[in-house]
Amino acid sequence: MSILVYIEHADGSVKKTSLEAVSYGKALSERTSAGEVIALALGTISDEELARVGSAGASKVLHVADEKLNAGVIQAHADAVGQVYKQIGAETLVLAKSSLGDAVAARLAVKLDAGLVSNVAELPETADGYKVKRSIYTGKAFAETTVSKNHKILAIKKNAVDLKTDGADASVEKVDISIDASNFAAKITSTDKAEGEILLPEADIVVSGGRGMKGPENWGMIENLAKELGAATGCSKPVSDIGWRPHHEHVGQTGVKVAPTLYVAVGISGAIQHLAGVNSSKCIVVINKDPEAPFFKAADYGIVGDAFEVLPKLTEAVKAI
Ligand code: FAD
Repeated sequence: MSILVYIEHADGSVKKTSLEAVSYGKALSERTSAGEVIALALGTISDEELARVGSAGASKVLHVADEKLNAGVIQAHADAVGQVYKQIGAETLVLAKSSLGDAVAARLAVKLDAGLVSNVAELPETADGYKVKRSIYTGKAFAETTVSKNHKILAIKKNAVDLKTDGADASVEKVDISIDASNFAAKITSTDKAEGEILLPEADIVVSGGRGMKGPENWGMIENLAKELGAATGCSKPVSDIGWRPHHEHVGQTGVKVAPTLYVAVGISGAIQHLAGVNSSKCIVVINKDPEAPFFKAADYGIVGDAFEVLPKLTEAVKAI
């Protein structure tokens, strides 16, 4: 018996969320009889980078290096993970909650007749590792869920697990499986990513602007701070509705839900629908000229002031560090 952890990677690096999933798997294996933690990576990535997964708790890393898996076609990934899962006789699959992770998990739950819990937010405290706490109502509450099926799939919420990377490097083993691309209903023919752009759903730091920024011509100030912090940019719904910013930057209940280590909100009132997308952030900094703005109630740090004065000073201060 073992725990298989599906690893996502981008631009040659294993994603932090996948290392968190490995840490979760490790804690699960220590508290239960779920077995050793084996990680699985698909597509092109170096052995050196994969060995690093051992530091988060994997005893070994399996690697299906088939280039057909590079495009991230969901069907292909679900097929490959399912094959390896069966080959090693695993009973638990752990992965990061992400758009790819969710899609792979859902397909495999059907294929394996597995119990699936998504948005898992806490480590199991008892030997009953399958009584898991998951985050519900956009992070406002927790639900305790018991997984009773033999096969279990747990999708781990970003930033919810303490990432431990003090273990040794793991050995990397190549695995050959047959992947029949002609079976796949979808094929990715090209991808278009702006050079250097940090994707909002995966960003560790987000700088977001609201209607208080007055117009798209002022967004350079948001972008400058984001650049200094190595952050992605986001916005409130009205800002993308008016067309000041693209829709994929819209954060909130009806937009992207983020869980960064740091969320900086500039000129955003803090309406409940916006908060629903950010309240899993580890630290929230609010800049607003109205001391009564509701966002201050959710903030860890607040600056009452005019964004047009505060932003350039803050950017300079960050630059000076
Ligand atoms: P405003 O409410 O206009 O607030 C602007 C803020 O900027 C104010 O607090 C003001 O004090 C401050 N400000 C003004 N000038 C300055 C300055 N110079 N310096 C500093 N601060 C300044 N909204 C979302 O964001 N995401 C969602 O997903 C979402 N989903 C929704 C779903 C539904 C069904 C509904 C009904 C609404 C939804 N909304 C959503 C809209 C939400 O209710 C708010 O209307 C919206 O979040 C307000 O955006 P805002 O804070 O940018 O603008």
